[in-house]
Amino acid sequence: MSYESKMLQQLAMPTRKEVERALLRTLLKHDGVIKEFGFGEEIVDEIAGEFGLSKDQRSAFLETIYRKQNRVKKAFLWHRLLFRAADALAKEDMVSRPTRTLQLTRKREWMLTEKGFDEALKLCNIPTARKEFLPTKSYEVQKIVKRLIESRKPENYNPCDRDKKIIKTTREFTLRNRAFRQAVIEAYTYRCAVCGLKLKSPDSLLWEVEAAHIVPHYFFGRDDVCNGIALCHLHHWAFDVGWFTVLDDYRVQVSPQIRRLPTDCGKLEGFEFFRMLQRGRVKLCLPKRDEIYPHHNAIRWHRKNIFHQQRV
Ligand SMILES: [Zn+2]
Repeated sequence: MSYESKMLQQLAMPTRKEVERALLRTLLKHDGVIKEFGFGEEIVDEIAGEFGLSKDQRSAFLETIYRKQNRVKKAFLWHRLLFRAADALAKEDMVSRPTRTLQLTRKREWMLTEKGFDEALKLCNIPTARKEFLPTKSYEVQKIVKRLIESRKPENYNPCDRDKKIIKTTREFTLRNRAFRQAVIEAYTYRCAVCGLKLKSPDSLLWEVEAAHIVPHYFFGRDDVCNGIALCHLHHWAFDVGWFTVLDDYRVQVSPQIRRLPTDCGKLEGFEFFRMLQRGRVKLCLPKRDEIYPHHNAIRWHRKNIFHQQRV
């Protein structure tokens, strides 16, 4: 038995398999990414806390002798165990290594892969059907998000893609759909662009905000960030049915149909849902980079085809 194995046994440390499972659960809890296991990193303590590790278990270290330099290197046993578990997950293609993730997000983090994501859902008893709505990052989806976020603003942008395949079963479609949603809600920092609402479910797994297509999916609207706006459920619905649109200067315009709205409609406990938009000349809260602002061709299409502008 190796020196390391003996120490693990003597200190009754968790097994590598147990740590692998804890890592997958922790990754899911942290939206699919956790930092490298450096000294003083919170994540190292968080997982130790899950196992209820004692002070001795957390601070025990191994001494390795570097023969060449004839010096002793000390490494925390718990850090090594975490690394070995993460390394085993990477070999099984359940996570991407920090060196690989770095090329994608410029952060040294362990990130779930699609395979690891599925396994983490199973471990947490979360139905796979919820996968599409979770903000969890996966390496495969993040590759598409990177492409979407970094794309340049096309001059003659056509927000409709007639060749768009409306096939809901292909893996590529699902990944692209999730990438669109993630890229849009991240670009708008998880807030509704109209009212600023930022809210998570009580279990912290779901964001309230949705990624709305400006040219809708059923009109072959492209899955590009500049054909999207992050909106809360209520504003998403109101935008999709044409209650409001967006002008070229990104101010919100409410449909004149508002005049026909019965006085008991469109109110939340005395709060005038649409009239508030009209009066305040609300302007969209936009992403940091103007390259991914809603494209004028997309919002013009919405004004022409979805918005109810007919005066009554
Ligand atoms: Zn809203």
